[in-house]
Amino acid sequence: MNDQLALAADRRESVQIRVRGRVQGVGFRPTVWRHARDCALDGEVLNDGEGVLIRVRGSSDGVERFIARLRAAPPPLADIAAIEVTTYGGSLDRGFRIAESAQSAACTDISPDAAICAACTEEVLDPFARRYRYPFTNCTHCGPRLTIVRSVPYDRVATTMAPFPLCEDCAREYGDPADRRFHAEPIACHLCGPRARLIRFDGRAISAEQHSMLDDVDAAMSLIQKGEIVAVKALGGYQLACDATKAETVARLRELKRRDAKPFALMARDTDVIRRYCSVSPQEEEALRSPAAPIVLLEAAGPERLPEGVAPGLRTLGFMLPPTPLHVLMFRRMKRPAVMTSGNRSDEPQVIDDREAGETLSAIAPYALIHNRAIANRVDDSVARWIGGQLRLLRRARGHAPASIPLPQGFEEAPEILAYGPQMKATFCLLKDGRAVLSQHQGDLDDAATWCDYLKNLELFRTLFGHAPQALACDMHPEYLSTKLAVERSKAEGLPLVQAQHHHAHLAACLAENGRPLDAPAVLGIALDGLGYGIDGTIWGGEFLLFDYRSFERLGTFKPVAMPGGARASREPWRNLYAHLMAEMGWAQFAMSFDGLGLFQKLSCKPRATLDAMIRSDTNCPLASSCGRLFDAVAASLDICFEHQAYEGEAAARLEAIACRKTLAEEGDRLAYPLTIPNLRGSGLPYIEPLGMWNAILGDLILDTDVSVIAARFHKGLAKAIVAMALKLADRGEEGAAVPRFDTVALSGGCFQNRILLEETIRRLEASDFKVLTHAAVPANDGGVALGQAAIAAARLIDNKILRRQGA
Ligand code: ZN
Ligand code: ZN
Ligand code: FE
Repeated sequence: MNDQLALAADRRESVQIRVRGRVQGVGFRPTVWRHARDCALDGEVLNDGEGVLIRVRGSSDGVERFIARLRAAPPPLADIAAIEVTTYGGSLDRGFRIAESAQSAACTDISPDAAICAACTEEVLDPFARRYRYPFTNCTHCGPRLTIVRSVPYDRVATTMAPFPLCEDCAREYGDPADRRFHAEPIACHLCGPRARLIRFDGRAISAEQHSMLDDVDAAMSLIQKGEIVAVKALGGYQLACDATKAETVARLRELKRRDAKPFALMARDTDVIRRYCSVSPQEEEALRSPAAPIVLLEAAGPERLPEGVAPGLRTLGFMLPPTPLHVLMFRRMKRPAVMTSGNRSDEPQVIDDREAGETLSAIAPYALIHNRAIANRVDDSVARWIGGQLRLLRRARGHAPASIPLPQGFEEAPEILAYGPQMKATFCLLKDGRAVLSQHQGDLDDAATWCDYLKNLELFRTLFGHAPQALACDMHPEYLSTKLAVERSKAEGLPLVQAQHHHAHLAACLAENGRPLDAPAVLGIALDGLGYGIDGTIWGGEFLLFDYRSFERLGTFKPVAMPGGARASREPWRNLYAHLMAEMGWAQFAMSFDGLGLFQKLSCKPRATLDAMIRSDTNCPLASSCGRLFDAVAASLDICFEHQAYEGEAAARLEAIACRKTLAEEGDRLAYPLTIPNLRGSGLPYIEPLGMWNAILGDLILDTDVSVIAARFHKGLAKAIVAMALKLADRGEEGAAVPRFDTVALSGGCFQNRILLEETIRRLEASDFKVLTHAAVPANDGGVALGQAAIAAARLIDNKILRRQGA
């Protein structure tokens, strides 16, 4: 040993290392243990309310190496927010030990549920392994988390695994820092863990024929293959499963579930099965195989086709790979895809309770594959789609929630805030320590069961994250249940309330997700969605806002058009079509030019006099500048979803699905429908005027142009008009200002889930030298609004604090 090394080894030091972020329940302590042993350090590691706390003593060289390793090689599911090192004055025993969790108020990240890892998959399929065919196999790198947790710190007793004491073998694995299962809280085996059982809801025994299968899990899939519908108690809720290739079974499931047209989710054993029905890019495959294992919307293309009833009118299929050992074992011998839809009736939330499953699902499925581990929290499957070179989450739930999102620079001083979110596709958001925790997808709050679940989850997250909000945030819509609750709580608890405008919140979420600093210059936000409450008391839904986190200025909009019947107009596309045509040309002109159209006949049959009276007298007929309703109207004109939409966005989704790819690929704008940008009378606000487009569509219909070509021309024209508006507002037109008003454009709102619209808009904006910000980790739809509300509230409260400080 040379002298210098000997000297360094002699210089011993003690430090305390605080690790923050998602560091509990992800195998952090054993990793620390291994690194510490490799670096010859004494000391201890423990979980506490702030994350992981490490105290080590050793050579300064060893300590340095240890910290470097901690940064470079954390466990796969960890997400380190910060590592803080301070000197430690206390004493430490020889050797390195993993200490018990400290009981204190928690505020560290709870990790999302993770799909079964490769090592566990191998084990459950290995006839010689102890966990062969054990459906609840997991380890530190995979398995349930949010779905089973009831409180913190995240230990077995705080989860629904509490009633299952570890057997000797499992206890040994749990206690061995060298084992993959060291301190994996939900571990179990055939001997000590939960069990799966196939039952008949009516209580009758299952015939011997099915018992000749490998086990109950295998028997469940045999039933499915025979054309039965089986309820499956899965990770975050019950599912309903049936053979996706059997048109008649799929139709029966649809009817019993009272689900008109909403696409069913699918599951397949592997990507080879999926490729028979869909094209799967390497990026899409990566998403399917990721620990989050979301449903990925894939282009339906392949040698085989699934029955139309799986995803009526769409060209995408939502596939996922088996996320749990239960699913892996079910699908082991299944060479076809199965429908794996949420276990519920129509729009209710997914059932998680066994008794409720018996009550509501027995009418749909005679059989159920159940087990005796409770589901603590309902967590739906996440949905993602690859659009414009990025994987974009459309529904953020299993595998993603409640992973926190770091807030951009400038938000360090933000107080703890609770944002209650919107009404539809609701999520809520907690702000704490410069990070945002967005809840899993809750659903539409007007459903009573969803509302109860939302209230329960608000409490759960408060506990899990030790959250004590100093301010609240919500939408401006007075009728949203989330708004009413926020107003009530703000009064009851004496907390300041920030009401954020819906589209401003959409766009602020986009900024936050993209890490745009608090004090960055304002950008143009384009928020296109269904409906949101505007600051002028009218309904907005196609807005061009110059904005930052604090405030916004409305620079442009879509044409405000009446919605005859109010909420009914959102469900019945023909109402929007009628209102659009009346606003543009009136009935007389429409009849004169287009009475040869089938469309004319269909609209003639409607109660026009009533609608006209509503529009004229302005009763139950609000004006809305909505892009979503424009999509509805165009879809209706092509006889797509004319009468009613079975789910939000159905008309737009179908319109996207039929759009002719060849027309879209055509260079130049020759085929784009013309939309112009005049100014509104009164306010002078520039708006997108679709009159030219309507004349062209109706003209194309007269010429018997294929509806797929019309749909493509509409998408092109719309994207072109959106970008023309951006250019106009930037003052970069022909005689534009030397310095444009903004160089960055943020896109948000549910309409941007449309692949064609988003890709075309991005392409055109980038061609005009704009920097474009879009959603990926947070949904563009209302699922992202809560994050925006929280960011807006934080920005304003930080300002107040600074003002107060300056005033003092
Ligand atoms: Zn594993
Ligand atoms: Zn065991
Ligand atoms: Fe919205």
